[in-house]
Amino acid sequence: MRSRIFFKLMFVFLLVIGASAIALQWTVHAVWERTLREQIERNLRQKTLMLAYRVEADRQHSLGDIVAQEGQAAGARATVVDPTGKVLADSEADPSVIENHSQRPEIIAALSGKVGVSERSSQSFGVPFLYVAVPVSGGAVRLAYPLTEMETTDRPLAVALFWGSLATFVFAVIVAAAASQYLGRRLERIVNFAERVAGGDLTARIASTSTDEIGQVAAALDKTTRGVEEGYARVQTSQRELETLLNSMQDAVIAVDVDGRVQWANRGMNRLVPRTPRLNAPLIDSVRDPDFLDAIRKAARDQVVTSARSNTIVVGRIFDVTAAPMAGGGAVAVLRDLTETERMEKSRRDFIANVSHELRTPLTSIQGYTETLLDGALVDNHVRDFLEIIRKNAARMSRLTEDLLTLARVESGEHRFDMQRVSAEELLQDALESFREVARSYGAELVVENAAGASNVNADREAIHQIFSNLIENALKYAASGKKVILGARSAERGAEFYVRDFGPGISSEHLPRLFERFYRVDKARSRESGGTGLGLAIAKHIVLAHGGTIRAESELNHGSSFFFTLTAPEGDSA
Ligand code: ADP
Repeated sequence: MRSRIFFKLMFVFLLVIGASAIALQWTVHAVWERTLREQIERNLRQKTLMLAYRVEADRQHSLGDIVAQEGQAAGARATVVDPTGKVLADSEADPSVIENHSQRPEIIAALSGKVGVSERSSQSFGVPFLYVAVPVSGGAVRLAYPLTEMETTDRPLAVALFWGSLATFVFAVIVAAAASQYLGRRLERIVNFAERVAGGDLTARIASTSTDEIGQVAAALDKTTRGVEEGYARVQTSQRELETLLNSMQDAVIAVDVDGRVQWANRGMNRLVPRTPRLNAPLIDSVRDPDFLDAIRKAARDQVVTSARSNTIVVGRIFDVTAAPMAGGGAVAVLRDLTETERMEKSRRDFIANVSHELRTPLTSIQGYTETLLDGALVDNHVRDFLEIIRKNAARMSRLTEDLLTLARVESGEHRFDMQRVSAEELLQDALESFREVARSYGAELVVENAAGASNVNADREAIHQIFSNLIENALKYAASGKKVILGARSAERGAEFYVRDFGPGISSEHLPRLFERFYRVDKARSRESGGTGLGLAIAKHIVLAHGGTIRAESELNHGSSFFFTLTAPEGDSA
């Protein structure tokens, strides 16, 4: 099948060639006719002048004879008129029956002394004539030449022109067809190439050897495709590397699109779930865990990294899920098996809890006997000093075991909090009541500010009291002698933020990130001396986390410290 461009080019060529042939024929014909006519007129003028000369000079022949001879010689009709336009002699008719010629334009010109030329249809014959009249003494002579003669001369030329044009036309059409075919083929190769590339075949090439514009386009397309092929190969290689890497991971990885359809899953994921995720199938077909699905949905919808715990993907196993949004929409989730870590963590917590629990009884006993001995009167001063040291250390150990037990319970999640709606103000007032006197004993003043500024929160009063206790005690121990300690609350994004502020020596910034770790102390000696266990802030942190809140410290050396913790508003309350 011929290409469409072939027909288009052919149509244009035919139009141009046809128009050129017609224009050429018309121009040549017109020029030829004009030349012929000018020649005829020049001839006729000469012959008319010769007739005039003979009419003037020939005295031997009659006017009738002269016009008959000259008319025949010139192949034209010869006429002689007097100054009034009356016909005196005519080569083709009897002058007596011919009407007066005074109104003929050429005669009018000749009678006024000029050569008159006119072309019109003859009244007598109805065919076009060329008339030339010249003055003679006593009138004018005229030759009339029938232009039908010219048509006869013209015909062979018209025929020759027609055949010549036709031959040129045919030749031009053949050349145009060949050119169109050639161009059409070359363009068709480019089209075929484009279709192959569009169909995914990046090995396609046009391989044109020509250097004209089409050749340059072909070379540019070849170059582009080669570049795309190389780029694609690179992408494929790195994708394979990535796949190998992801498949060799212990963690399970799965990617879903915006509609929650599986785009990719690594071997870890396939091993994990009983129903291997199928490409483009909804994720819910293979994994039903609501926490996992929520995390992925949230990451894809809100474009934020989301974490979750899920324990129903595989019975008896706990997974940490991290879902991250993908650039083009959708999300990728990594599942890390925490079962073993959790088990070890639990046994560590259990161990600490058990040891603390086991130490309780002997410690109480030591404390009891020491105090009994101290109460006795028979103890000399030396022994009393030793007993005092034993009592102090036993009390410290007892505080440590209590704190360790509390921490282990809160951390394990075994401790049941009695959550209830409580106003921020009430919590602050409770703390104020409980610690006002203690503060006074440190020589400091406990003040509450902004108590009414925050909303209700959902909290276990006992536990919050414990947090305030730890924070206020620290403020008093490390900072506040003779100064103020401020308690306060303010509205936060999802509830309320409480704070305990002191104006003590502050904590330098390098300690802040680790402050809430267990046994982390800025000044070990001071902490010990003041009876600190190094667990107060860790306990506060775990209670806040168990309440779904956050805790942080802000401090600057010599400018005091502030400890903030948030609690969430009860369901249905807006912060
Ligand atoms: P401790 O039982 O030693 O007080 P915490 O966990 O309560 O343990 O506190 C950890 C450390 O943080 C403390 O040892 C102390 O160095 C520092 N710290 C806590 N609160 C303050 C405060 N208000 N001002 C200065 N340092 C503080």
